[in-house]
Amino acid sequence: MNFKNNEEDYVKTIFSLSEAFEVANENQISRDLNVSMATVSEYLNKLERKKLIRKDGRDITLTREGYTMAIPVIKKHRISEVFAVKMLEVPWEYSHSAVMDIEHTIEDKYFDNFIRNLGNPLKCPHGNSIYNTSKTDDIKALLADNGKYRISRIVYEDTEMLKKMADLGMYPDTIVEVMHGDVVILSNNNGELKLPSIMSRTIRLGNILPA
Ligand SMILES: [Zn+2]
Ligand SMILES: [Zn+2]
Repeated sequence: MNFKNNEEDYVKTIFSLSEAFEVANENQISRDLNVSMATVSEYLNKLERKKLIRKDGRDITLTREGYTMAIPVIKKHRISEVFAVKMLEVPWEYSHSAVMDIEHTIEDKYFDNFIRNLGNPLKCPHGNSIYNTSKTDDIKALLADNGKYRISRIVYEDTEMLKKMADLGMYPDTIVEVMHGDVVILSNNNGELKLPSIMSRTIRLGNILPA
């Protein structure tokens, strides 16, 4: 990982994990950034000294300063995903991992042009808001009653899970049926997807919109 990008990648990752799971921990950060636990621990101490994060036992959250730093990074990341899908024809399920470098290299002064030329998208390909308006009325798959829903967004963009969803054509704004058994199951005409409990919190559903 490029040293210059470290801080941006850490706050972005903690932001994403907090959005999906309320808090982040060192394990998840180490896995998402693909760096060792020792490196993560050391780096988090640095971020804590800079007052960008707060640690409470194993729980890690962004401070207001950390959050303020994360917002533009997240915005660039999500716009870059739109670019990857629209202009580079990167398959949907790989768009999250495909943009890890471009998102850091766009100069701010050209960023508005980048957004405009992509047609002013409001959401990333996984349904997450580019402008972080954070007002969402979606419901966790875990908490949805059995029935039909529209997929609203996939908050935790895990490539393995996205690949399974793509295989079944389960994208944002497609319709799925929720069934609760030992685990939460999403189904459509293409088949069934059993959600590990952690993922059932991060796949968010909305009501089927009237035509
Ligand atoms: Zn992403
Ligand atoms: Zn995305």
